[in-house]
Amino acid sequence: MLDSVSIGKALSDSQPKEVYHLAAQSFVGASFFQPLYTANVTALGTVRMLEEVKKFDNKIKFYQASSSEMYGNEKSTVKNEQSQFQPTSPYAIAKLYSHWTINMFRDAYDMFAVSGILFNHESPLRGLEFVTRKISNGVAKITLGIEKNLKLGNLKARRDWGYAPEYVEGMWMMMQQKKPDDYVLATSESHTVKEFVDEACNIAGISTKCVISSKENFRPSDVYELRGDHTKAKKKFGWKPKTKFKKLIKIMVEEDISRWQRWQKKEYFPWDAYTSGDDSAFITKS
Ligand code: GDP
Repeated sequence: MLDSVSIGKALSDSQPKEVYHLAAQSFVGASFFQPLYTANVTALGTVRMLEEVKKFDNKIKFYQASSSEMYGNEKSTVKNEQSQFQPTSPYAIAKLYSHWTINMFRDAYDMFAVSGILFNHESPLRGLEFVTRKISNGVAKITLGIEKNLKLGNLKARRDWGYAPEYVEGMWMMMQQKKPDDYVLATSESHTVKEFVDEACNIAGISTKCVISSKENFRPSDVYELRGDHTKAKKKFGWKPKTKFKKLIKIMVEEDISRWQRWQKKEYFPWDAYTSGDDSAFITKS
């Protein structure tokens, strides 16, 4: 995202009809420690992409991965495409810059530029930097006796968590519409981090006492609640979330338990755990 020449080369190599711009420095917590890098990659990276697409072929359809974080602590309980933005992290500010840039390219250059405002969407492929996967991975390790406890931060934050494959289908649906627009994808339900922990422990059959909230994992400023309204996407192209909160947690916890069981049998190495700084797999194994 820092190198326009590479973006231009990727376009000429692949000759796309649609571009899905998902790349970003996407960890909210990390953005407080790397605000300049986050702005460069997550905000200016979108301008680089759009400028290259415009130059190469301005009829290419462009999808921008906007984020529910852009709403920040805005007052309304359920957010839709009309709600105000009030970003509270360098990440959210960078995403909002990109969102407005998409709107500007749509109006000024008549480009098919879509902004998908997606609320948190999770799966077993989620990075361990995010709370859902940190919980499913941690709970799996405690269940199998690999780890004794799991340290999290703010357990009171509420998020609207959906199942990622359904959201990817929604992105594609937005790009098949006659006109480019902004759309919210969300389940319209919100739950606390604590509720996620309780359900994960319940599925695994372990006590919630091994999950600790620690001040060191709190952010300098956090978004208290994010809950979205997907009515517009439902009306325009029939999108609706199918996988509910408890089912999502079951999918994630069971997959992580299976991964760590395979690791115990020396059939699998959890690279994502290792690359995110959780090197227990290496230490225990040797
Ligand atoms: P985000 O909504 O994109 O910031 O997704 P995250 O999964 O990173 O965080 C969701 C919420 O969980 C935020 O309010 C965090 O403050 C909260 N949270 C609590 N403990 C943790 C933790 O250990 N790691 C992360 N990433 N988030 C945590």
